[in-house]
Amino acid sequence: MPIYEYKCNVCGHEFEELVFASSSETPECPECKSPDTEKLLSSFSSGASFADPVPAAPPSGGCGGSGFS
Ligand SMILES: [Zn+2]
Repeated sequence: MPIYEYKCNVCGHEFEELVFASSSETPECPECKSPDTEKLLSSFSSGASFADPVPAAPPSGGCGGSGFS
């Protein structure tokens, strides 16, 4: 079940809400009960340590020929 983060535009309170289906409604703020909330982008897959993999070994060959006549 996806959990989305919301932020209240009235009091600035941030909260998480379980969302079952793809409902287009935003939940009301649990603090001030205002419906004026917005969905925050989840920081789920922010590729922080994703962009620096170990360099792959070269497939084969190159200049390793030692037995050609
Ligand atoms: Zn609020």
